[in-house]
Amino acid sequence: MSSGTPAIAIPSLAVVVPCYNEEESLPKTIQVLNDLLDKLIAANKITPDSKNYFVDDGSRDNTWQILHNTALQNDKVVAIKLSRNKGHQNALYAGLCTTTEDITVSIDADLQDDPANIENMVDEYLQGNEVVYGVRSARKTDTFFKRFTAEGYYHTMRTMGVDLVFNHADFRLLSRRALEALKEYKESNLFLRGIVREVGFKSSVVEYERQARELGESKYPLKKMLSFAWKGITAFSAVPLRMITVLGLCSGFASFVLILWVLGIRIFSDHAVPGWASILLPLLFIGSVQLLCLGVIGEYMSKIYEEVKGRPKYHISDVVRKH
Ligand code: UDP
Ligand code: MG
Repeated sequence: MSSGTPAIAIPSLAVVVPCYNEEESLPKTIQVLNDLLDKLIAANKITPDSKNYFVDDGSRDNTWQILHNTALQNDKVVAIKLSRNKGHQNALYAGLCTTTEDITVSIDADLQDDPANIENMVDEYLQGNEVVYGVRSARKTDTFFKRFTAEGYYHTMRTMGVDLVFNHADFRLLSRRALEALKEYKESNLFLRGIVREVGFKSSVVEYERQARELGESKYPLKKMLSFAWKGITAFSAVPLRMITVLGLCSGFASFVLILWVLGIRIFSDHAVPGWASILLPLLFIGSVQLLCLGVIGEYMSKIYEEVKGRPKYHISDVVRKH
């Protein structure tokens, strides 16, 4: 055991915020995050060159104008514009890859995850943790549906052997070392909260209560949410594929028992099992099971197809900073 941990130098901090059509939330968010940097700098917890990085993920409203103008006036703000909408994970990744600071914190633009917790995260880093997970201790403000589906999802993922931090989304701190390790994961189907667990390093948790979105509306409608959930499963678990084998074994066994039963009646009694239904129903059943299995295999194949192409995850069309 070492006698004491070496003192950690005051780090520079980059806060990364993906923004998609966030014109309503942004003015307040920029203000709050800039104030927070000032506070942490004054408290001597981060260096004065720390910055807030806002990534415009191809918004169609005034998000870019707001970011662009702010970055020109304020040297704490860096505005990054993606060439088109690439989705939350890619936008966040683009922001993370642009930073050069010692530590990064990723946070949503709607401030549902209270930025005041960033101070606790930095404290955890100063204690020697390289990854700090923001964990929602209560989901009081989420709708019943969102809470139910989200928690059910975390449980399902766990049962499938995927190592996720329960109720952790993308509010987290990464040290430079952890971020560089994360960048080595080249997959096109980004599911950052899964990859971060793979990366490892000493980690800790900061718990907080998630607030309701104050301004604007969720950019994750049900369809996007489902596709994100499925992306997480296919990127981290082969259990659905294995389930096909199990399903095949079960239905094979059931068919075998059925055949024995039909033969038994034919051999040991004077009559055969009559009717079309006994022929047609198993056929329909097995047909649909086969289609379902083909579908699952197809889903994985499409993911492999995307990965094999190895397309770039984003293109940056503009970066604005004061100097
Ligand atoms: N977002 C993004 N690109 C997208 C969709 C969302 O950059 O295509 C950003 C959005 O601006 C926000 C974050 O991702 O900062 C999370 O989105 P949101 O708050 O709408 O999701 P929810 O909290 O409802 O799950
Ligand atoms: Mg939100």
